Amino acid sequence: MNKFIPVNTPVLDGNEKKYLCECIDTGWISSEGPFVKLFESAMCAKVNRKYGIAVANGTAALDIAVKALNLKDGDEVIVPTFTIISCIQAIIKNGAKPVLVDCNKDTWNMNVAQVAEKITSKTKAIMIVHIYGLPVDIEPIAQLAKQHNLKIIEDAAEMIGQTYKNQPCGSFGDISIFSFYPNKHITTGEGGMVVTNNAQLAEKCCELRNLCFQQKQRFLHEDLGWNYRMTNLQAAVGVAQLESLDKHIKRKREIGNLYNTLLKDVDGIQLPLKQTDYAENVYWVYGIVLKNAKCAKKISAQLAEKGIGSRPFFYPMHKQPVFNKMGLFNNEQYLVAENLAEYGLYLPSGLGISDDEIKYVADVLINLFL
Ligand SMILES: *Cc1c(COP(=O)(O)O)cnc(C)c1O
Repeated sequence: MNKFIPVNTPVLDGNEKKYLCECIDTGWISSEGPFVKLFESAMCAKVNRKYGIAVANGTAALDIAVKALNLKDGDEVIVPTFTIISCIQAIIKNGAKPVLVDCNKDTWNMNVAQVAEKITSKTKAIMIVHIYGLPVDIEPIAQLAKQHNLKIIEDAAEMIGQTYKNQPCGSFGDISIFSFYPNKHITTGEGGMVVTNNAQLAEKCCELRNLCFQQKQRFLHEDLGWNYRMTNLQAAVGVAQLESLDKHIKRKREIGNLYNTLLKDVDGIQLPLKQTDYAENVYWVYGIVLKNAKCAKKISAQLAEKGIGSRPFFYPMHKQPVFNKMGLFNNEQYLVAENLAEYGLYLPSGLGISDDEIKYVADVLINLFL
């Protein structure tokens, strides 16, 4: 095999083209077009929510979700250090303070015991972020939230179609978000959505998405928002993708299980956990953690030489220069996240990968460990 195998390739083999042509034929290409509402209600039906607000991307969805909660300066939000920067910057840009927790070494999701330890009188919310294929253990966190009267913001960007105890991810937060970037389980190119059951929060999110124009007097503004609208073109692709979600989820699990089988005897690699008592892994990405101090960067470079794309795991938020320069997280230590950053990487595992390509990747990897 001599072609390059990228870390992700999306699959758009349903009604995407047909619906896009409808947009072009009818001239509805902006956010005013009918596919936006269709996509919102179809997503809501899929994840058991009342209101969906389609936006420009997942990062925008987080900005809006956090702002809608109306946090005050000094309010604290507990969030994992092992995540994407979008989570932390949404909190900071809204004037609140991110308080970090480490993750679990097997599920890679936030450490629930540490969440309990980090609650103070200033804590107002917990941002749960489902990581790589397994959801956060939500029940104990929901209990803490109830006990201390905290809001839950749920980042389900990587978990579209996944469940926790048979309930859809994205149905657990006071406010939850999705991303539709091309490496997610369904894509709109760029795109995201906020979902909630709370009518007031939903209305606030709609305003924030649309520059806080007002219904009564359009150009009179009571608050600052963004233009984070999703176009009809994106939503058209989203509606088609959603029709394929169950198929995509099935394929994701096939990809993960094929890697599991092929790599099961390799000494020196920690494979992803297949399941917990609350979920079966969906392998949003197929992540591995190298043991015996083999550095992920080196293995990644060796895979690239053989035409295989890979990515290092998240670099923890407490070690980000941008935050350290702001005086945040200096001297904090989260050893599990630091270890994952050093030794974790993920293999090509997008929906477009073929079984033969997976076998090739596994072969190359096995040879690196012989
Ligand atoms: C992808 C992702 C996002 C951001 O989504 P974008 O659409 O790329 O802005 C947020 N959170 C998590 C956990 C993600 O994986």
